[in-house]
Formats: sequence, structure tokens, C-alpha cells
Amino acid sequence: MLSFEQARQVILKKSAPVGIEQVTLLEAVGRVLPHDLVTPWDMPRWDNSAMDGYAVRSADCRQVPCTLKVSGYIPAGASGEGVKVEPGCAVRIMTGAPSPAGCDAIVSVEETDDGQLDVTLLQPVIKGQHVRLRGEDVASGSFFIRGGTIVRPPEVNILASFGKVLVDVYRRPVVAILSTGDELVELGGVPGPGEIINSNALSLAAAVAEMGCIPRIVGIARDTRESHLEKLQEGLNADVLITSAGVSAGDRDLVRDVLSELGVEQIFWKVGIKPGGPTAFAMFKTTPVFSLPGNPVSTMITFEEFVRPALLKMLGHQRVLRPTFKAVLREDIGKKPGKVQIVRVNLEFDEGNWFASSAGNQATAILKTMVDAQALAVLPAEGVFFAKGDEIDVHFYGNYCDRVEALQ
Ligand code: AMP
Ligand code: MG
Repeated sequence: MLSFEQARQVILKKSAPVGIEQVTLLEAVGRVLPHDLVTPWDMPRWDNSAMDGYAVRSADCRQVPCTLKVSGYIPAGASGEGVKVEPGCAVRIMTGAPSPAGCDAIVSVEETDDGQLDVTLLQPVIKGQHVRLRGEDVASGSFFIRGGTIVRPPEVNILASFGKVLVDVYRRPVVAILSTGDELVELGGVPGPGEIINSNALSLAAAVAEMGCIPRIVGIARDTRESHLEKLQEGLNADVLITSAGVSAGDRDLVRDVLSELGVEQIFWKVGIKPGGPTAFAMFKTTPVFSLPGNPVSTMITFEEFVRPALLKMLGHQRVLRPTFKAVLREDIGKKPGKVQIVRVNLEFDEGNWFASSAGNQATAILKTMVDAQALAVLPAEGVFFAKGDEIDVHFYGNYCDRVEALQ
């Protein structure tokens, strides 16, 4: 049996981006840029004014107040070509307009009498003040974005500033989702005695979509070899296949056998994690195949701990694990040795420390505790008793910090 950490390492080693595509800047938000990008021109493209005011020669303004003749005007959008600041003169200028030849400082309008023909400066002038220099933001020929960067509004802004209409981003993997079991009824149907609704397909699709991949629900494979063959084959056309249930040791658990019949190479089966012990991982050519246990809590936790990091890597992300931090336990927790235990917890932030308490009944069949939990605690395999006051590792579950006390 692989340890939790080993299983994750193996999965991440096998996961790689599935390609690159060109999209518009708005479609690129949240996506990852694969390439280093070099500026085609200096930004700003010319020396320009940081203020509405007057372009001056600082040598003329050693003593204040001093009065200069207003010899020209450069509004925003004007080229400023042919305009020069002669000794004893000032040129009226607007923010962002090219600073004229001869000037080495800008005086803001608030530091003058705002004169039209003559202007009187009220404050001492320092050489270089309020002049933005050509290329001071990004110089031509230098990198302005590195490969691996996630596109956010600032990246959209700099890409747009350099005139990029389309950008290369890593492609979003298509993720097939297959449920297995004779007990399943599709959402919208009425479950009879012994039947349950196929809720895993929806929650897996939601998790896949939430992180920016494309879910494709394949449906239900019934507990026969033929049904599994047909549905698994369909799922293997995607970039990633996730199955739920049918992966334990029961005589109706057919997923692994039928996958191997289809030429899928099993990489591992069983991991030292609770919940989620029967998780299997396999590869079909370049397609990762995750066989997750069917119990909804186990399905969601194994998705979170194993599938999500792999999908993030496939999307081109470099940081694929959620940040883990320490929290002080509010109560004792015991566990069996040998497996990492994932505990559904709630968090509070108080006087500089995080505190964790159980979100409720930790039995794997209790779905409500998953709904109530804000975070997951990762208790190490070797530990058996964690006392109130001990520090444990936790990470958030989901992207919604608004659920955490004291973070409002
Ligand atoms: P299995 O691994 O096939 O024994 O399934 C384990 C348990 O997971 C079953 O008892 C079901 O209650 C539950 N389960 C399996 N598939 C689903 C599903 N698609 N949606 C919700 N619950 C499921
Ligand atoms: Mg089953």
C-alpha cells in the first residue's frame, strides 16, 4: 500500500498539460500562460508627465517664487513633437502627455498660480520630479510576464497595453465522469427501495468545473462486465477519466478488472488515507484514470487530495497543493495508526492563532459533516492521539473564506 504522500507524488509525476490554445484576454482569466513574453516596445513609450501642470527647466527655478512665460501646451493624445522648453519658459502639459524637449521637471498645477500667459511657481523644483521616463515600467526586449503566470486583471491590463488580442494559454482538460453501480438512479428519477441518486456525478462535475476544467458526465456503468466495458471505453476518450465506486474488494467491484481488460495500466491500488483507502490510479496512454471510492465523502476527499492537484498541474499551474497551515485543536482526536486521516473541521481565528474543531460526526457515510466543514485537517499516518491544544496541519476546502469565523 502506498502512503498518502507517495500516492500524490506518483500522480503528479504522471500528470502534464494537455496542450496550448489561443484565447481572448477575457477568456484567459484564471488560465495559465505557458510562455515567457517579451515586450515589443518600451513602456511608457516616451518620457511623459505624471501630473497636470507645467514642463520646466529646473535650472530656471532655483529660487521661488519664480515666474516663467507659458510658451506652449501639450494635451493628452498630442505627440508633443516640435515643442521645446526654452530658458525662462514653461509648457502647459497634461498627465501622460509626452514631456517636451528641454524640460527636466514637471511642476504640478497645485504648486503654481495656474497662470495662462505667465506662470508663477510657488515651491522649489527638483530635477526629474514628476517625469516618468521612457521604459521605466518595462524596457523593450525584457520579460514582462513569465511562463507559468496565472492571468488576473493586472495581467490582462499589461497584455492589453502591449496590444495582445489573443494569448496562448494551457488548454482545459476534458474530464469524463463515470459512476458505477446497480443501485444508482439518475438525478430527476425517483429512487425505489435500495436505490440512491447518482449524486457523485454532479459533485465531481461541480468540482471539475469550479477549478476550470471541462466536465463530461458519461453516465452510469451497471454492475456487469459489458456495461463497464462500454462506459469505461467512452470515458477513456477524454483527457482524464474519473470513476466513482466499484473499486473496493467486493465481487461486484469491476472497475479495475475491466480497465485492465481495456489495456489501462494500473499504477497503484489502495492508499494509506482515511477516508479513501481503496483509491486506484491508472494510465491509458497519456490519460490519467482515477478510480475513487463511491461513498460521497470519500469521493470528494480523494478528489480534493489527489485529483485536484493533478488537474491543476494539467492546467499548467505550478503551485498545485492548497497552502497548509497550523491550527490549535479545540478538542482531543484519536485515530488508528498507519493511515493519514483527513478530518472535516471548522476554523476560528482568534488573537493571532487558528483554532480547529471537528465539524461533526466523522463517519465516512455522514455527508452533512462535509457540508458543514470549512477546512480539512491532515493527521499524519503514525499519530494515534492528538490532544486539545496540539497543533495540527489544516488546509481550506473550497475557495470561500466567507465561511470562516472572524475573517469578515
Ligand atoms: P461501492 O464502492 O460500489 O461499494 O459503493 C460504495 C457506496 O458509495 C455505496 O454504498 C453507495 O451508497 C455509494 N455510492 C456509490 N456510487 C454513488 C454515486 N454515484 N452517488 C452517490 N453515492 C454513491
Ligand atoms: Mg458498487
